[in-house]
Amino acid sequence: MASKGVTALSVSVQTGSGYIVIDAEKCKGCNLCLHACPKGVIGPAAGINRMGYTPAEVIPGKEGECTGCTVCAIMCPDTAVAVYRHDRVLSHSTL
Ligand code: SF4
Ligand code: SF4
Repeated sequence: MASKGVTALSVSVQTGSGYIVIDAEKCKGCNLCLHACPKGVIGPAAGINRMGYTPAEVIPGKEGECTGCTVCAIMCPDTAVAVYRHDRVLSHSTL
């Protein structure tokens, strides 16, 4: 069966307090991060990577729900997930 390729990186666009980048070529499709994410942000990609695994990716439409909690990255045995948090301006004043 012919398989559709996947892009090398799955990037969630920032709208929440964090976002993740999954390296699809490092991912072995174990699904640990899918089940660990408390927000249900991660799902399986539609295609396979060069190793023949179905990698994890950020589910389209869920990008803004990532809190940056890092659970997915901690769970990943292949260090395929990077988590980024947004800096927040807690106060601002002008003189
Ligand atoms: S950082 Fe937390 S909320 Fe964001 S995708 Fe990973 S487990 Fe889910
Ligand atoms: S835990 Fe890591 S290796 Fe497993 S599916 Fe998630 S990103 Fe891929």
